[in-house]
Amino acid sequence: MDSLNILMENYQAFEEKRIKDRFFKHADLLIILDKLKTNTDFMLKEVGQSTKGLSINLITWGKGPKRVFLWSQMHGDEATATMSIADLLNFLSNPDQFGQIQDLLADKCTLYILPMVNPDGAEVFDRRNAMDIDINRDFRRQQSPEARILRNLRDEINPHFGFNLHDQSTLWSAGNTGNPATISFLAPAYDKILSLNSTREQAMKVIAIMNSAIQKTIPDQVGRFEDEYEPRAFGDNFQAAGTSTILIEAGGFYNDPEKQHIRKIFFKAILAGLISIADESYLKATTEDYFLIPENKKLHFHILLRNCKLEKNGIPYKLDIGLSAEEKVTKDAGSVKYTYMVTELGDLTDYFGYEEFNCEYFTLTETKKIKIDEPADLIVHNGTNILLTLENGF
Ligand SMILES: [Zn+2]
Repeated sequence: MDSLNILMENYQAFEEKRIKDRFFKHADLLIILDKLKTNTDFMLKEVGQSTKGLSINLITWGKGPKRVFLWSQMHGDEATATMSIADLLNFLSNPDQFGQIQDLLADKCTLYILPMVNPDGAEVFDRRNAMDIDINRDFRRQQSPEARILRNLRDEINPHFGFNLHDQSTLWSAGNTGNPATISFLAPAYDKILSLNSTREQAMKVIAIMNSAIQKTIPDQVGRFEDEYEPRAFGDNFQAAGTSTILIEAGGFYNDPEKQHIRKIFFKAILAGLISIADESYLKATTEDYFLIPENKKLHFHILLRNCKLEKNGIPYKLDIGLSAEEKVTKDAGSVKYTYMVTELGDLTDYFGYEEFNCEYFTLTETKKIKIDEPADLIVHNGTNILLTLENGF
C-alpha cells in the first residue's frame, strides 16, 4: 500500500477541478463523462433515465475477471462519493502516472461505475427522488425508475463486489474516540439474524483493508455502522444475492463543510479496496479486523458549550449546551444555509464538539431564552471580548 500513499501525495494530478463543492449537477457530471468518450479504455452507456428524464450512465473500465460494481448518490444530497468517482475516472484515464496500479486493476478487475443514481435529487440537493421516494427503501417495490435501473444492473452484471457509496450525518462519532466518524463502513447483513457467510465475510475483509489504509490519514476517525437488517435497502439485498457489498459513508471532518478533504480520503478508501480485490490481499485480513473498527455513536455536536453558568429564579446552575447546524438548501440548490439549533442540554461531559467552548470562565448571555429544538440566540463573552455570537441560529 506504499504506492497508494505516494499516489495520494500526487492527488492534485488527477483531482477533478470542475467540482469544488457538493452542489454540482447532472450537467456537470455529463461534462466529466464526455471526456471519456474518446478514450477507448472506457465504455459509456446510458442505462436508463430518472423520473424527470435525466440520463443515468454506466461506465465500464478494465478487462479482468473480478467484476466490481460501484454506485453513488442514490441520495441526491450525498455527493461526496461522486466527487471521488470523478477523481477516480481521471486517475484511470491517465496511465502515464501510476501505471502499475492501473495495470493491476485493469488486468484483474472490470469496474462498473454508476455515478449519480439520483440526478433529480442532485438537481435540488435532496435525499429523495422526484417522486419523493427514498430509492434506498425501494428495492422490493421497485416503484422508482432509479431503483429499477440499479437492481437490474446488479442482476445483469452479477458483480463479485459492490461499493454502495453514501454520505452520513456529520454528527456521527467514531465510537468513544472523541473524533467524528469521517468515514464509516458497513458490510450489510443479508438476514434478520445477521448471519455471516463467505459473501459477507469477504466484504468485511475488504473493509478491514480500506480501514487500515485510511487510518494513516485519519487516525481514529473511522466508524462502523450497526448491522441492523433493512429488507428494503439495496446493500442488504445485494449481499443476499451474493455480491460482497461494502457500504461507505462520508461523514464530517473539522473545517471541511464542502467535504473536499473527505473526498480524497474517500477516494483512498475506494482505491485501497479495489487494489486489495485485484491482488487478493484482502484475503489476509480477518473479520476480527472489521469488528475492531469502533461502532458509530452519535456523540457529536457542531458546537458544544461546556459549563455554562445560568440562573433560574435567582438560583445558579451549570449547563452544557449542544448545538447542531441544520442545513437548508438555497433556492438555486447552489449552497446551503446553516442554522444552529439547540439540540441537547444538561450534562454533556461524555460528548464532543467540532468546536468546543469552556464557558466556565466566560459569561453566557441568552439573547433569547435557550430552549431545546429552537435556534440558538446567545453571546459568549468575557466582558471585553466576544467568543461567539449566534443570532436566531446564525
Ligand atoms: Zn445515503
